[in-house]
Amino acid sequence: MNLNASSIPRESTQFEARRREMVALQIRGRGVRSERVLAAMSTVPRHEFVPASQLSAAYSDNALHIGDGQTISQPYVVAAMTEALSLTGSEHVLEIGGGSGYQAAVLSTLANQVMAIELLPHLADTARERLARLGFSKVSVVQGDGSLGWAPGAPYEAILVAAAAPEIPPPLVDQLAEGGRLVIPVGSVEEQNLLCVVKCAGRVMQRVLFACRFVPLRGCYGWQTEPHGITQE
Ligand code: SAH
Repeated sequence: MNLNASSIPRESTQFEARRREMVALQIRGRGVRSERVLAAMSTVPRHEFVPASQLSAAYSDNALHIGDGQTISQPYVVAAMTEALSLTGSEHVLEIGGGSGYQAAVLSTLANQVMAIELLPHLADTARERLARLGFSKVSVVQGDGSLGWAPGAPYEAILVAAAAPEIPPPLVDQLAEGGRLVIPVGSVEEQNLLCVVKCAGRVMQRVLFACRFVPLRGCYGWQTEPHGITQE
């Protein structure tokens, strides 16, 4: 029989073992303390969100390509961003840059509702179908420019931006609830700081979590694409 990557059964218990190891070494081992976040990372089957060609690397300590030039973030980064949102279970969460749907699935196990916006139609459709098939019923995926947020669902108690922005898009602060948390990588195309922004009495306070490198946020408040690269406008 000729086995190729797509015929490997994805339910295999070998993935559970790799997931446990991922949480112990990459996530708990690097300082993520929230038991709720650790449980979410232990539960969501990351291998279901990567292309068949990347299946054996699903639990590795890296970002992975998911097609269309985009990536699924490194497991530690997903966990650290999620922890920074301090979710208790009641929140209405907005994710910008839905990609594969993995981060949204993790968020949905810790919050009440998740709205994920993805710019690329093909990725948005695939993520929507995948999340429905896997039973992540608290996530809705819409296609659009998430640098504008998603006004129909506002306000949000938590917003996570999974792509690098040149600045904090003002609509995201507007759509954040009082006391709400926004986690966003801000900086140049090459390197960013991951910021945690809290809206308090109408003002924003921000702290830097760590240096990081994400794919660029496009759209109105993102980076504009030019034939020879990306320039800020
Ligand atoms: N969170 C994702 C990975 C995100 S990669 C996961 O768990 O798989 C960043 C994503 O942001 C890419 O899919 C990219 O297409 C998307 N993106 C870039 N600019 C965007 C914008 N303005 N609005 C919505 N999505 C955007």
